[in-house]
Amino acid sequence: MTNISKVGIIGAGQMGNGIAHVFAQSGFEVLLSDLSQESLDKGIATMEKNMQRLVGRGKMSEDEMVAALGRVTTSTTLDDFGDVDLAIESAVENEEIKKKILVDLCPRLKESAIVATNTSSISITRLAAITDRPDRFAGMHFMNPVPVMQLVELIRGITTSAETFDAIRELTLKLNKTPVSSEDFPAFMVNRILLPMINEAIYTLYEGVGSVDAIDTAMRLGANHPMGPLQLADFIGLDTCLAIMQVLYDGLADTKYRPCPLLVKYVEAGWVGRKVNRGFYDYTTEVPVPTR
Ligand code: NAD
Repeated sequence: MTNISKVGIIGAGQMGNGIAHVFAQSGFEVLLSDLSQESLDKGIATMEKNMQRLVGRGKMSEDEMVAALGRVTTSTTLDDFGDVDLAIESAVENEEIKKKILVDLCPRLKESAIVATNTSSISITRLAAITDRPDRFAGMHFMNPVPVMQLVELIRGITTSAETFDAIRELTLKLNKTPVSSEDFPAFMVNRILLPMINEAIYTLYEGVGSVDAIDTAMRLGANHPMGPLQLADFIGLDTCLAIMQVLYDGLADTKYRPCPLLVKYVEAGWVGRKVNRGFYDYTTEVPVPTR
């Protein structure tokens, strides 16, 4: 079994810093990388804020927090990845960008290192094929927010070895999370089911069936969902939602996955949700205000 003690993470955005948080909290050494020092500082600040919240709730001691943060180092280059046992790619949901990162990354890794991607939808097999280690490549799809959500969806590409899959399964258990196994088809399981619902909620808004508030209230109180679908879309990021719908549409060649034109328009406007304070809601006020 591959021994994993140091994990390198590429991308310090909302998912990357959450993944760094849970590994550091579970005793792993973590190397967090992003394109700029500014993105890294933002990621570390989010991690500190989230750990502080755990300390406040008595779920982590102050000493544990200091020790966990002490296990995290940062870098703006992939040159520092030579001693990681596992690299997890968590940059933007764009196949060309992910492929470029993987091509740059692999020659810098040690021979035995496993590579995982946190992609929400892109083919694991296709990404694995451009690396020098298709047998040591798999999908580790964390849920948002990573420190809170229990599930990790593990995706086996056609070339992923049983040993690699066992190693990431064991690792997920060490993070005190629950793994589920998915075969490698567009958007896997969670997003294959979730995103068409979100897209349909956006069509429901687009066609004037209901307002943002009415649609979210209907699904919270009528279907017992903890968040309305439009609120959830803002939380995921509308750019990520659109990218996943496009993967489903292209990958399954079925018009039922056609991304809603209103989703496209919001992304074109740069109104991509919570991370920029504007999506289907405006988050600049204390109580979010619907934008339609
Ligand atoms: P994000 O926009 O918050 O963060 C992406 C980060 O990647 C940014 O900090 C950006 O600077 C960095 N980045 C971009 N290009 C890079 C490069 N070449 N090298 C290094 N870093 C680079 O996005 P996110 O929500 O954290 O999503 C990241 C990945 O996680 C995506 O593949 C997404 O599909 C997946 N994911 C997202 C969610 C969600 O709910 N948002 C859930 C599960 C999985």
